[in-house]
Amino acid sequence: MNNGNFGTCRSCGRQILWIRTTAGKNMPVDTAYVDYVLPKEGEKATEKIVTPNGEVVSANRATGEERDGFGYISHFATCPNAAQHRRRK
Ligand SMILES: [Zn+2]
Repeated sequence: MNNGNFGTCRSCGRQILWIRTTAGKNMPVDTAYVDYVLPKEGEKATEKIVTPNGEVVSANRATGEERDGFGYISHFATCPNAAQHRRRK
């Protein structure tokens, strides 16, 4: 199954992937997969991961062997120019 179209970030010029989420929204994500772990009880998830099926999960990046799945990370979180959008000129 191929859900998503390649595109280019208008802000930083990097290649991104547009994934249609289960909510029907198109979301720009990085093209590389990341492994994620779901937060344990009482833990806070710091990332929004979109699975290849378009499900958005709140999780943390896997740092060790343990992982609950893989998906794409929102490009809004990694775009090097994201801060510029908010900065006043
Ligand atoms: Zn960007």
